Amino acid sequence: MQLTLNPRWDLDTLFPGGSESEQFQAYVDNIKDEMKELSVMVEQFNPQGEDYESEFVQIIHKLETTVKKLREASAFVSCLSAQNVKDEKADILVGQRSVLSAEMGSITTKLDQKLIIIPDSSWEALLQLPELVDIAFVLDENRTEAKEKLPEEQEVLINDLAVDGYHAWNQMYGAIVGNMSVEIEEKGEHKSYSVGQASNKLTSPDRKVRKHVFDQLSNAWEEQSALFSQTLNHLAGFRLETYKHRGWEHVLKEPLAINRMKKETLDAMWTAIINNKKHFVTYLNKKADLLGLEKLSIYDISAPVTTTVKTSSYTEGAKFIVDQFQTFSPKMAGFAKMAFEERWIEAEDRAGKRPGGFCTSFPDSEQTRIFMTYSGTSSNISTLAHELGHAYHQHVMNDVNGLNQRYAMNVAETASTFAEMIVADASVRNAQTKEEKLALLEDKIQRSVAFFMNIHARFLFETRFYEARKQGMVSSQRLNELMVEAQKEAYCNSLEEYDPNFWSSKLHFHITGVPFYNFPYTFGYLFSLGIYAYAKEKGGSFEDDYIALLRDTGRMTVEELAKKHLNADLTKPEFWESAIGLCVEDVKEFQRL
Ligand SMILES: [Zn+2]
Repeated sequence: MQLTLNPRWDLDTLFPGGSESEQFQAYVDNIKDEMKELSVMVEQFNPQGEDYESEFVQIIHKLETTVKKLREASAFVSCLSAQNVKDEKADILVGQRSVLSAEMGSITTKLDQKLIIIPDSSWEALLQLPELVDIAFVLDENRTEAKEKLPEEQEVLINDLAVDGYHAWNQMYGAIVGNMSVEIEEKGEHKSYSVGQASNKLTSPDRKVRKHVFDQLSNAWEEQSALFSQTLNHLAGFRLETYKHRGWEHVLKEPLAINRMKKETLDAMWTAIINNKKHFVTYLNKKADLLGLEKLSIYDISAPVTTTVKTSSYTEGAKFIVDQFQTFSPKMAGFAKMAFEERWIEAEDRAGKRPGGFCTSFPDSEQTRIFMTYSGTSSNISTLAHELGHAYHQHVMNDVNGLNQRYAMNVAETASTFAEMIVADASVRNAQTKEEKLALLEDKIQRSVAFFMNIHARFLFETRFYEARKQGMVSSQRLNELMVEAQKEAYCNSLEEYDPNFWSSKLHFHITGVPFYNFPYTFGYLFSLGIYAYAKEKGGSFEDDYIALLRDTGRMTVEELAKKHLNADLTKPEFWESAIGLCVEDVKEFQRL
């Protein structure tokens, strides 16, 4: 590996010139042309005509290539707006992207509606054509979804209106957050930080610092709560109104369908978690003890128990990750090394960047880019490993049919948490001192607490908020109450102070691209733990089995995926219990130490 890595990403190899890139504009113009052609083809497609089979095959081929290019362009725009929240040219591109996605949405809606006209028996036969059999699952999913939606003109209208009436709220949220600053007092001086920078300081070993940062962040979010309650209420209102017109009663219908999972699977997962929460409450109480507190507050959960906070430079962190990946999968390690050296990662700690982390794919160039802010903590290293897991997932799918490359969030989070776990587990094993081992083990347990408690709180909040929203606007005060209620339940009343502003500070509630951006994380975590347990049992041959599983993630339901690759039934608690069992072991080990 290179001696010193550059923590800024290289976007120029994709399209030179940033938001002013002429090549990018040309690429987008080409997409527009392709979409026009596709639109005409779909328009002329006659599902009852003589040649409907060959016409359909041609449309699908065109659709695959156009969708790939659109994803490529979309990824570039995401990178531009994340790296500099003040880049106004990038904002314009974000708007342009929304228009293109909406147009593509309208085209596929039109196509899917035509598929309904094809009688079931002919449809079955069509899916058996050699050109289509590989993507039969996805095509059938689209047709089924179309059956459950409104007639074409209405869906097209919803899609078009969503650009400014729905997704704009998410954009507005980003704009407000990007302009926020948080005043932190450090060594008697007042310093101004972006929200992302300030949040990184919440893991300080000094409780006074944590409390101060938490309070300052809370004040900053509270100050803007009137605006955030607008963004949240209106995007939720748009979503609910759409569901109402389609006759969809339950707010979970769409997220479950998107994640290709059954309600029974979700219920089995939460039930197994609730049954095991006592172990994590024990951990939280033990931790309070160690910190000399009666009870923990929400800003204490991620605090280190040991005083030695190890920080590592970006290059050290990268080397650590590559080494740990190596022990499990040389292919994954090789990929990560390449991503670091080719500068596929934006990790620099500087102002003006969007907070949080993500990984985005450029399927046309077969590349990915990772975005985060790296300040040297072990949690930064986890985030980096996490995003590299996403990137690797895309990497093994590069030669899969474009229409089979779209996997849902729950399995997307499988690859990422799996990568995180390899790093975490190996670190515990390699710990030099008891203190180091304790700190690393804690890191792992904290991840469990996050998925079983923090994410559970988000799920409970969001479910209840949407119910409340059906009756009308929900005030920011009520949002605060709903949030604290959800947190109390999810953490089993084990904390002293909760975080009422979490509904504004957590970006995920404001994402319009996908609803309920929470339970898929927990699913991914436990699913990957299940895979991990299976891998340990199976040993050597697992690297290729793992790749085979990842490559199937875009073409079947999660229940089918688990059956085929793990021989497990996700609708039953057993699978989940066994995965949680591994996390409970961590708590027991922690107590022993
Ligand atoms: Zn992720």
